[in-house]
Amino acid sequence: MSAGLPLSSYTLAKPTNKLEYLAPLFRDAVAAAIAECNDATNALNAMVYETYRSNELATVYFARGRTVKPPATPVTNAPNNLFSWHGYGLAVDVIHRTKEWNVSAEWFAKVAVIFAKYGCKWGGDWKAKDLPHFQWGKCKPGPSDVARELIRTRGVEAVWEAVGASVPATIPG
Ligand SMILES: [Zn+2]
Repeated sequence: MSAGLPLSSYTLAKPTNKLEYLAPLFRDAVAAAIAECNDATNALNAMVYETYRSNELATVYFARGRTVKPPATPVTNAPNNLFSWHGYGLAVDVIHRTKEWNVSAEWFAKVAVIFAKYGCKWGGDWKAKDLPHFQWGKCKPGPSDVARELIRTRGVEAVWEAVGASVPATIPG
C-alpha cells in the first residue's frame, strides 16, 4: 500500500481517479472491491472514475443548473466539497470501463453487492439515487457540521480516525 497523497495537493477543477487520495482503509476496500468486480467470475469491467473532489470542482458542479445552463436545474446541493464525502477522500464514483455511465441499474447493483462485502455503502440505496456513488460504510449518509469543523480544525486525518478509516497504529515489539 502506498503512503497516500495530501488532499490539499489536488486543486484542479476536474475529476481525479487516484486512489492515493482516499482514507487508508477505504482505499484498500475500493481496490479489493474493484479487483473482485473485474475477476474472471464477475467480469463487470468496473473502474473508478472519481475519488477525491477538490473544492474547485465542487464549485463547478454547484454552478451547473444555477449560473451555468444547460442543465435547466441544479445537479447538486453541495455548495462546496465538504458537503460530500468525496471532499474527505471517503467516497468514489464507479463506472463501466468502456460504456462509462451507459449501463443498467442492474450492473450498478452487481457492483454494489461486491462493494458491500468490503464495507462500502451505495448511493443507489438512497431516496435520490446516485448509482455510481460508493462511500465508506461507517460514514453517515452525508458529512455533518461536526465533520466540517473537524476537517477545518484538525485536518482530514482526524475525520478518517473518527470514522474508523485510518490504519490502526502498529504496536511496537
Ligand atoms: Zn459520488
